[in-house]
Amino acid sequence: MKKTTGMDRATTRNWRAATQAVRGGTWRSEHGETSEALFLTSGYTYDDAQTVADRFAGDAQGMTYSRLQNPTVAMLEERIALLESAEACRAQASGMAAMTAALLCQLSAGDHCVAARAAFGSCRWLVDHLLPRFGIETTVIDSADDAQWEAAIRPNTKVFFFETPANPTLDVVNLQHVCDVARAHNIITVVDNAFATSALQRPMDFGADVVAYSATKLMDGQGRVLAGAICGSEQWINEVLLPFQRNTGPNISPFNAWVVLKGLETLELRAMRQSQNAVELGGFLEPRIDTAGGRMLHPGLASHPRYELARRQMRSTGPIFAFDVGTRERAFAILDALQLIDISNNIGDARSLMCHPASTTHAGMEADDRAAMGVTEGLLRINVGLEDIDDLKEDLDQALQAAGI
Ligand SMILES: *Cc1c(COP(=O)(O)O)cnc(C)c1O
Repeated sequence: MKKTTGMDRATTRNWRAATQAVRGGTWRSEHGETSEALFLTSGYTYDDAQTVADRFAGDAQGMTYSRLQNPTVAMLEERIALLESAEACRAQASGMAAMTAALLCQLSAGDHCVAARAAFGSCRWLVDHLLPRFGIETTVIDSADDAQWEAAIRPNTKVFFFETPANPTLDVVNLQHVCDVARAHNIITVVDNAFATSALQRPMDFGADVVAYSATKLMDGQGRVLAGAICGSEQWINEVLLPFQRNTGPNISPFNAWVVLKGLETLELRAMRQSQNAVELGGFLEPRIDTAGGRMLHPGLASHPRYELARRQMRSTGPIFAFDVGTRERAFAILDALQLIDISNNIGDARSLMCHPASTTHAGMEADDRAAMGVTEGLLRINVGLEDIDDLKEDLDQALQAAGI
């Protein structure tokens, strides 16, 4: 293997993040290709029967089947692990495949899971509907209230599950506090880091055990593929996640893994620029929204209740924020008047996208749960892209005017 291999931890773990993002995990074939190779193969062949027997017995390294190993997927996993400073990572077919696997691989009937109330709609569905079907008790709390975490613990509590900032209300969880409480009670923290990614926030630096991802969002960053990932200690990945993953098969396609590898090369640049655009656009909108009696939900603005905490635990606050304009009619009027920004429920894209969570991403929830979470009828969520900030301001300016704001 050439000296430029990105699979040698002794070298790669000393690289800074920007170097890891473009080189970490690169595993060149004998052709010495510059870009990562795409191995579209489900199976592998062997020179002799003993070779494959040794691999299946675990006595020899090597690929056996793409549900178990694939070189392109392995490159993505190594790159994400390096960026997260995690011992190990396994890629998944989607963010929801990752969340489902991260919970089901370690929870059993009789266990208890404490989860954040403010969460992506499907993450709440796992907690509210799927886990209880298998005899796993769940408690949903206000994740931004530090005291509620410890208060919710029972003797059988095994997992804390939350995202920060949360989708779509931008609640910020105190990572250090929640991870400390979990450690003290032998509870595993599973952090959904999709909104920030390792470029902006590294939960493991605060003691998180497992970091799970929708890589569909900022990691790909160009709205092309579904992808997910789970990071953890080598022991947890090998002993807890892998038996579940290898036998249930929520694997990512090598093609999608390759696309995300390309996305990671520019992750930091995109995340920082989009965060900067989001702070500027939020600051531009806030006085207008305030005057109209609305509400701005933006962890990068001083009006956010956890602005200082977000500054401490995040490098920058990310591309997404939300604001409430009072009624569904007004929210729809703004969306319908947009000329540049697209109406879309996706996030993390280099394009600016806006949606009405109550009728889209969170439409599947009970109205009461939605209201308790703060997903009001007038709430709009925006993903701020890489367009020129003045074009974005002009588009929102005319859309707000059209809606009488
Ligand atoms: C989008 C999202 C998910 C789900 O990811 P998919 O890749 O769409 O399956 C999970 N958590 C958060 C916070 C998300 O934004």
